[in-house]
Amino acid sequence: MIKQFVPSEFCIKCKGCCRFKEAGSVWSPCLLDEEIQKILDKKGIPVASISIDRHIQPVACSGCSDLVCPYLAVSENKCQIYEMRPFECQLYPFLLNLRKGKVLLTVDLNCPYVCEKINNQEAKEYIIYLTGFLNSPKMLKLFEDNPQIIQAYEEVREVAEINLKRSGPI
Ligand code: SF4
Ligand code: SF4
Repeated sequence: MIKQFVPSEFCIKCKGCCRFKEAGSVWSPCLLDEEIQKILDKKGIPVASISIDRHIQPVACSGCSDLVCPYLAVSENKCQIYEMRPFECQLYPFLLNLRKGKVLLTVDLNCPYVCEKINNQEAKEYIIYLTGFLNSPKMLKLFEDNPQIIQAYEEVREVAEINLKRSGPI
């Protein structure tokens, strides 16, 4: 589990995550190979459809204007698989991002918590922790084995470089 930057009490009151404007959105969680069966095996929750590119497919919900992750308990605004939520969900509002052949750690300033804190000491210390964690041999091997997890997001701020190289047009 990745140490979290945003307190869960803040997230529960915010409706910024787990909701998507469209199906096939790059923002819907992309799964590591090892996460797919683990998540599909979880009992007592709706079965998510996983796209060919290993994204959780958002679903319609009554009373929502956006599509939502099938694992979101909408009325409580809580993840039903919080203890085993995907790597990308743990990482957000930080994201791995492919840009000009480099893999970067970026941050989405649409998250109100990180937007307010990004320039303070707490954020600087967290970024040092997170960069060290993501650059550890174990995590670099995980990314090598799961190239789908390195995606291209727009309108995010670069904060550090990850020691992986990828070819890509963006
Ligand atoms: S946008 Fe930020 S504060 Fe809101 S739920 Fe997501 S991580 Fe939490
Ligand atoms: S798995 Fe959980 S944290 Fe991730 S998008 Fe779905 S509801 Fe949100």
